[in-house]
Amino acid sequence: MSDCIFCKIANKTIPSKLVYEDDQIVAFDDLRPQAPVHSLVIPKRHVVSVQELGEQDHALLARLLLACTKIVKLKGLAENGYRLVTNTGRDGGQSVFHLHFHVLGGRHMAWPPG
Ligand code: AMP
Repeated sequence: MSDCIFCKIANKTIPSKLVYEDDQIVAFDDLRPQAPVHSLVIPKRHVVSVQELGEQDHALLARLLLACTKIVKLKGLAENGYRLVTNTGRDGGQSVFHLHFHVLGGRHMAWPPG
């Protein structure tokens, strides 16, 4: 989508701190990190949120989650733990409407979230 910031990151028309890429997925560091490690994992294809995924998207969803665990290993979070988050819609606090998983770690995460 031409006016989507994450599509622009995926197609490299705007720069990012890339941490992982394959044929369907890109991961990069968040511009405003909320933890010592804060990366975002996105599909290259424009999908608004996890709510838009259907039966035909099993493989993409699995690959996104596996990409998250690759980032976890790359960033050294596997031993102490981490949090995966996908904010969805207005009440979920989503601000960029291109599906993304936050990979957060490097500090203790509180519960419940704000
Ligand atoms: P959410 O609020 O869950 O939709 O998350 C969107 C995230 O994208 C926020 O954590 C922002 O800091 C992050 N973000 C927005 N623009 C950029 C960008 N150009 N590069 C990296 N992260 C970004």
